[in-house]
Amino acid sequence: MPDNKHIKYDLSEDQMPQAWYNIAADLPVPPPPVLHPGTHQPITPDDLAPLFPMALIMQEVSTDRYIEIPEPVRDIYRQWRPSPLMRARRLEKALDTPARIYYKYEGASPVGSHKPNTAIAQAYYNKQEGVRKIATETGAGQWGSALAMAGAMFGIEVEVFMVRVSYEQKPYRRHLMETFGATVHPSPTRLTDAGRKVLAEDPDSPGSLGIAISEAVEVAAKNPDVKYSLGSVLNHVMLHQSIIGQEALLQMALADDYPDIVIGCAGGGSNMAGLLFPFIRERLTNGRQTRFLAVEPMACPSMTKGVYAFDFGDTVQLTPLVKMYTLGHNFIPAGIHAGGLRYHGMAPLVSLLHSLGIVEAVAYHQNPVFEAALTFARAEGLIPAPESAHAIRAAIDQALEAREAGQERVILFNLSGHGFFDMSAYAAYMSGELEDYEYPVEEVSRALAIMPQVDLSPAR
Ligand SMILES: *Cc1c(COP(=O)(O)O)cnc(C)c1O
Repeated sequence: MPDNKHIKYDLSEDQMPQAWYNIAADLPVPPPPVLHPGTHQPITPDDLAPLFPMALIMQEVSTDRYIEIPEPVRDIYRQWRPSPLMRARRLEKALDTPARIYYKYEGASPVGSHKPNTAIAQAYYNKQEGVRKIATETGAGQWGSALAMAGAMFGIEVEVFMVRVSYEQKPYRRHLMETFGATVHPSPTRLTDAGRKVLAEDPDSPGSLGIAISEAVEVAAKNPDVKYSLGSVLNHVMLHQSIIGQEALLQMALADDYPDIVIGCAGGGSNMAGLLFPFIRERLTNGRQTRFLAVEPMACPSMTKGVYAFDFGDTVQLTPLVKMYTLGHNFIPAGIHAGGLRYHGMAPLVSLLHSLGIVEAVAYHQNPVFEAALTFARAEGLIPAPESAHAIRAAIDQALEAREAGQERVILFNLSGHGFFDMSAYAAYMSGELEDYEYPVEEVSRALAIMPQVDLSPAR
């Protein structure tokens, strides 16, 4: 029986952890500062006040190990939490592997992904501080749907800048957001200086998350009763998502098992951090010998090909500079189907852990990823989101490796969402139309050339 007694989980009668876990308390080295985009000096909480409610800013910089989940947030979480932890026995059998494969299923939330874990919390804190409207961006639409739902629950308007190519290709996601009462624009728009600037250079711009972030940030910065919200990357998002791993630790203990390797797909890093961070705590503070693996697309390989440097979070350079693995803030991704994995950067906390060798990273092409999705769907009966299927590919490869080695191995991965809105991607795969696109190395060096030059030596 694994010894989990030291884990603070304080299960309430509904079996849900009462606190989020903040990995900032346990990092082996201090995290790099966040810098002002103009002065390159470390920013203060006040610099962020136009964009976020103070409660979230304080979480962003907090080093408290545990932060209590407010009761109104818990009350909504209860609708689908604790989310199921499953043993993929039929998949194990199909692969004829001695490995034991577990997955945490976040597709059971109302909008079908992990994103409401933070959307609900963010809407709650905004409501607490009297915010009228939240502006945000969305790529494939999962984040926009989650925030639109949260806004409807707390009575806050939500305005979404949706990457244009997705707006056109995924009308159902847009209608989902509109059903919850949100306003959705195809980005770049003519509503903001940032959008007009991009359109002046390229009237046919397909948009990107970086551009959509610029637009939403601008709207928040210019309107006192509007705040901005980001669905990944930031420390407070990783914090809210930690409920996934907090639950999984307890559920693995119930199964009387413990993972040798924990796997997540990584776009901005939040679903993976959510599952991994509590297990990383067990390695850092309790000597557990667990491996951690981030999986990204070959078409957007932030960690496997990017550089670890200070960069902007958006295209038009409005956001603070954070140190992260990045492909450059003007990155325009190829139109791969895992829309949620097309961000140019990676969460600073995940980036730091990768730079320290604690989180490993691997990249896959879309075809092998969809092949794994079909294997999984046929064994387990769940259609995974294309993003989540990246984690499945890695989990299957781990299980096959264990088979070759004749080795027991306990594998845990995050199934971050279901793929019911992605059937056109499945259709494209099954008719052999999916192209494998590898982000060219030359593009990475081009991006390096435009990276902001930051000198962190003490003030001259
Ligand atoms: C948004 C999304 C992702 C990628 O975002 P992260 O912040 O890296 O988690 C992965 N899976 C699903 C289902 C998503 O909706």
